[in-house]
Amino acid sequence: MKECIFCKIVAGEIPSDKVYEDAHVLAFKDITPLAPQHILVIPKIHCASVKDSKCTPEVFSQISQAVQKITSQENIEEFRLVTNAGEQGGQTVFHLHFHILAGRQMRSMG
Ligand code: AMP
Ligand code: ZN
Repeated sequence: MKECIFCKIVAGEIPSDKVYEDAHVLAFKDITPLAPQHILVIPKIHCASVKDSKCTPEVFSQISQAVQKITSQENIEEFRLVTNAGEQGGQTVFHLHFHILAGRQMRSMG
């Protein structure tokens, strides 16, 4: 999608601190980390959020497999995995992404 910042990162038009890449998934460090380790995991195809039917079960499967590889690669044993959907849900970039947050005690949600 033309104006999507994460599509631009996938296309290499905007730099990112890449952590992991395979045929379907890209992971990079969040530019504003909320934890000592804060990694964003995104599908290479554009789909907006978990509410978007373009985000198919196949996409979620690819992401969950990537999360297992990334956490193993980065020696992350325990972590929080978060995705926001819609503005009220706290979503600011409307390309599906999962936050891996690790390296500190997580507080309760809400
Ligand atoms: P969300 O608020 O759940 O939509 O998360 C979007 C995340 O993207 C935020 O944590 C931002 O810090 C992060 N972000 C925005 N632009 C960039 C970028 N160019 N590189 C890395 N992370 C980014
Ligand atoms: Zn996109």
